Amino acid sequence: MRLILQAMNKLTFRRTDEDELTFELLVDGLPLGERVGAPGNGIPHRYVFDSLPSIPPYPDQAPADPTLRLVAVCKCGEFGCGYTACRVHDDRLEVHMRDFWTSRQQANTGS
Ligand SMILES: [Zn+2]
Repeated sequence: MRLILQAMNKLTFRRTDEDELTFELLVDGLPLGERVGAPGNGIPHRYVFDSLPSIPPYPDQAPADPTLRLVAVCKCGEFGCGYTACRVHDDRLEVHMRDFWTSRQQANTGS
């Protein structure tokens, strides 16, 4: 029997209110955007309803893939201008985020 122990990262957020109320995700207190190629970018409040926004981030449009979620939007605040996304699996005890990519690069930056 093999036991694997992993350190649990802490996911939080902070408000950044430059042009409009925006939420920036933090992992262990550091901006997630800096880890995934979107430094300084957050999620404008108008895309957040009850969880991380799906893609597209509009409640009247069904997401193509419900496991894909926005973690950062272009600094101008427009989803259509550019965004960073990842796959999110939430089993109620842990949230797993993986397969990060940006709409501009379409590149997997790891997890
Ligand atoms: Zn933009």
